[in-house]
Amino acid sequence: MILILDADTLPDSPVFADLGKRLDALPGIRWRVHQEKGTEKVLTEIYLIGQTAALDTADMAALPGVERVVRVSEPYRILGRHQDDHRPSEFLYNGVHFGQDALQVFAGLCAVDTPEHVETMMRALQAAGQVCTRMGAYKPRTSPYAFQGHGAACLPWVFELAGKYGIRVVAMEITREAHIEEIQEALHRTGHPTGVMLQIGTRNTQNFELLKAAGRQREMPVLLKRGFGITLDESLNAAEYLASEGNRNVIFCLRGLKSHMGDPHRNLLDFGHVPVVRRLTRMPVGIDPSHSVGTRHRGPDGVLDIFHATAQGIIAGANLVLVDFHPDPAHALVDGAQALTLAELPLFLEDVRIAREAYRQRCALQQRAASV
Ligand code: PEP
Ligand code: MN
Repeated sequence: MILILDADTLPDSPVFADLGKRLDALPGIRWRVHQEKGTEKVLTEIYLIGQTAALDTADMAALPGVERVVRVSEPYRILGRHQDDHRPSEFLYNGVHFGQDALQVFAGLCAVDTPEHVETMMRALQAAGQVCTRMGAYKPRTSPYAFQGHGAACLPWVFELAGKYGIRVVAMEITREAHIEEIQEALHRTGHPTGVMLQIGTRNTQNFELLKAAGRQREMPVLLKRGFGITLDESLNAAEYLASEGNRNVIFCLRGLKSHMGDPHRNLLDFGHVPVVRRLTRMPVGIDPSHSVGTRHRGPDGVLDIFHATAQGIIAGANLVLVDFHPDPAHALVDGAQALTLAELPLFLEDVRIAREAYRQRCALQQRAASV
């Protein structure tokens, strides 16, 4: 159960102290406070944990300082979508809006290689009106002999180049807690020329200690990939780890499942789950068509499978697209086979726009049908 407090009931107020005493007196109930700083006001919420089924919603709503009560019916207590739960779920990060009503494209390099490639990529993004990108510095690779990413050494110049070309958010995978500090340190040293969205990859979806560390910091949002070999429920619980530690600026990203049933694609596409995640949770839902499809094959219609997969996710309501591009895919150090070229960037963005428009028209059609 969640108690949403009146806007002026802050933890150092006498009303809060009174409320706390009453909550302490409830048998079998523990509670913890969460504060969400909005642009205008601070929202204070209290999470009641334990035997909450015995509590009466009206009794709890009558407690001092309580504005509303949300009875949590699903396992995803913080990120889940509950009955009568009208808490806002969208967020603004470094001037970019994320939410279930938004759509952001993160086109960029799977792995940072040379400053020339990074700069060429950023320049193309700026020319295409883009303010987000993906840049992998820490790469989890199948083989220990494969390129592991430049790590912390490349962060200052990657962030500076991002700033130079007006990029506001860089999605960057981390594989251990120390990477968070390295990113914070590099952002600080370079004077915050850009923002970073921490990415937790499919191999780490259930790395609970990493999730807790990423959740403890609330400065950077987190993009969590769905685990490629676990259930959707298990992956959504992983997202809840981030929120339960304090960071609820979480984007959930579908990226396909590891199964030979997906052949000849690299993974079995799971974008049919876009509406499912949007229904079960309040998280914006991303799709990664590059790591799902993994090839540059195209259909008899001339359209690349990656474009088709992207459109499938967007027409179902996806809110973010994470996609690999490279100025010279033949020489990319990681995943060149699935990289789109810079010449394809305007085409890709136009295809995204068409699919998004089709999604809007589908929603409008549904609303018209519901109103007659
Ligand atoms: C990536 O986005 O670079 C990546 C490794 O993706 P995933 O974790 O989904 O395999
Ligand atoms: Mn990759």
